[in-house]
Amino acid sequence: MAVIARVTVDAAVRKELDYIIPPEWLDKIQVGSRVKVPLGSREALGVVTALLDESPHPNLKPIIKVVPGQAPLTPSVLNLARWISGYYCCPLEIVLKTVLPEAVRQEEEGWKERLVVRPVAQVGEPLKLTPRQESILKLFDGKAEIPLQQLVREARTTAASLRRMEELHLVTITAGVVERDPYAHETIVPTQSLGLNPAQDNALARIREALDAGEPKAFLLHGVTGSGKTEVYLQAIAHALQQGKGAIVLVPEISLTPQTVERFKARFSSGSTATLVAVLHSHLSAGERHDEWKKIRQGRARIVIGARSAVFAPVESLGLVVVDEEHEYSYKQEESPRYHARDVAVYRAKLENAVTVLGSATPSLESYYNAQIKKYSLLEMPSRADHAKMPIIRVVDMREEARKAKGPPVFSLKLREGITARLEKGEQTMLFLNRRGYASSMQCPKCGYVAGCPNCSISLTYHRKEQRLRCHICGHAEKAPTECPEAACKNPAIRFSGLGTERIEETLQKLFPKARVARMDSDTLKRKEDYRRVLGDFKTGKIDILVGTQMIAKGLHFPNVTLVGIIHADLSLHMPDFRASERTFQLLTQVAGRAGRGDVEGEVVVQAFTPFAPAIQYARRNDYAGFYDAELEFRMQLMYPPLARAAIITLKSCHEEKVRFSADYVKVELEKGLKSIVDLVIAGPSPAPLIKAETFFRYQIMLRTRNMSALAKMLYPLIGAIKLPEDVSMVIDVDPVNLH
Ligand code: ADP
Ligand code: ZN
Repeated sequence: MAVIARVTVDAAVRKELDYIIPPEWLDKIQVGSRVKVPLGSREALGVVTALLDESPHPNLKPIIKVVPGQAPLTPSVLNLARWISGYYCCPLEIVLKTVLPEAVRQEEEGWKERLVVRPVAQVGEPLKLTPRQESILKLFDGKAEIPLQQLVREARTTAASLRRMEELHLVTITAGVVERDPYAHETIVPTQSLGLNPAQDNALARIREALDAGEPKAFLLHGVTGSGKTEVYLQAIAHALQQGKGAIVLVPEISLTPQTVERFKARFSSGSTATLVAVLHSHLSAGERHDEWKKIRQGRARIVIGARSAVFAPVESLGLVVVDEEHEYSYKQEESPRYHARDVAVYRAKLENAVTVLGSATPSLESYYNAQIKKYSLLEMPSRADHAKMPIIRVVDMREEARKAKGPPVFSLKLREGITARLEKGEQTMLFLNRRGYASSMQCPKCGYVAGCPNCSISLTYHRKEQRLRCHICGHAEKAPTECPEAACKNPAIRFSGLGTERIEETLQKLFPKARVARMDSDTLKRKEDYRRVLGDFKTGKIDILVGTQMIAKGLHFPNVTLVGIIHADLSLHMPDFRASERTFQLLTQVAGRAGRGDVEGEVVVQAFTPFAPAIQYARRNDYAGFYDAELEFRMQLMYPPLARAAIITLKSCHEEKVRFSADYVKVELEKGLKSIVDLVIAGPSPAPLIKAETFFRYQIMLRTRNMSALAKMLYPLIGAIKLPEDVSMVIDVDPVNLH
């Protein structure tokens, strides 16, 4: 009989602690339970991570209390958390903070309780009711219950009068749980399975086979935009449900729109199964999140759709995990634990014998490589399901345009003509530029002054409407000067260069004064409602041209959009990142996927100063495999992912000397400590691409090896043992996606 509980407390103690379980709690405690324990002179909450018969430590203190209700953490998710801690080099207590949402970490069970009134069916001799009482009872009109507060309001009565009715056994008043359902106000029309085309049919058959076999198989579903991947997910989920298994669907936060959620709810939530689908995303209130989470934990919701952290949803007998748009970088968390939800999904599925389906029109090189080496099974859906044609992609050489126009124009002739034609036909256009603001830098042509951020090593972006210069890294803002601020210069002819979305919008309004133009980027969309409103207006045709950053590139369906313009395709190509080419290819392909989803064939105009770059040309020909081969060649030469795995160690300090010195020292320690990893490459230390950010100087060391699990195992304790000066900090990012 276990009498000791090992607990990970919600505090930075970096180890698990043992406590005695008092007899009264023995049958209430499980692995995964939340408990309150003494910690020094304080009390703290924590999670039970193991039950033991004895402990190696003397003088244990008893647990103070067990949080009532079901243990929030399932043993399998706890195993997953342990793996994340080891692989991503992060303390377990920090992993558990991500795994268990704040809303279910509380000391009390967080259901919202209210008093509800229920009418009592009258038997025998009818009571003599007052007209008042009669009218109150009439309000129920078939309803089983009405919350007390609401009834008081609607009936213009008092709680005391209702209590009097309770004494007469006309009604009962009890505490009831009121579930907060974020989608309660939406009416959703149920949908039926579509008849599948052969490519979909084959994909589904393979997934069903794996589900039936109960094997932890991972599939890469490579299907062009509009090939009907979602329909395959839906029918695969239906199959898992029939087997009594649950499913998790991960989508990038940005595409977790009401449209997406509705497609899943519409298929699975009819009548009695209204709670079958739970939704988890960052815009839920704490109460909503708590209730959605508990619905999953209690097994009432069997399907979970959510962003990154939904990979931790406590679904029991998990059958299927879908990761839609698996190439998306937002699946990687950019703070501790720096996990990648796609990789965690595959690992979780392996632990629980579930099937994983990774879907994308532009798979990450990592996933496609895994399919090539047969770690994943490849499913291909090369054509659109709705028989819409793939759009025509035209690449415009902006060097030519600049020569003709004596300076680079915002829009090429091709794009201007295209927009004019769409406006005449009443069709819509989307323009895409991955940079907000008006101009990306402010320079003085006379003395060479460039307005830079005082805290970061980048130039400030000019925002014209508010007449301010802003740093897009740290948020620093200052008034835009009207003349060169250099005391010796004071040139009034200060210039702005580098296009931003604000400038595109302005130029459009000048060129097409009658067009209805809207801009969508994080400057114009301050609230979630703004996003919905602009998209709604675009969908209903109140907007002709939508300008935006990558926000508008993802997963939206607008059948009337027949032209997509990419203003500056090379922007992402020249980033100091080995994935720059891959990102550009993905971006162009995804953006192009927005064009021509209806009956009219779409057109994409790509403006580029390096029009023959492979990423642009392969995207133009819609040749994923060609791009993959060329790109893999380049990665192979440098032993970059996917041929090896990488980890980046970043050191930060306000003092550049100190951080450089510390980085050299860390490298020496790594070389000493990691000798046994034969294929290890240790590159650097070198200044990070953004050498200064938010006042900190940053140096990086990059490690590359084919055996990251072995490396992580050694790296984590090694790094923990390195002593650095107090004002130098260090973070490890395993499988980084963001190199600056
Ligand atoms: P993807 O997720 O691959 O981008 P979608 O699932 O959004 O593609 O499908 C694109 C369009 O094709 C949707 O309007 C969908 O309803 C339709 N569709 C999917 N499968 C079929 C099918 N088998 N028959 C007819 N239409 C389909
Ligand atoms: Zn800054």
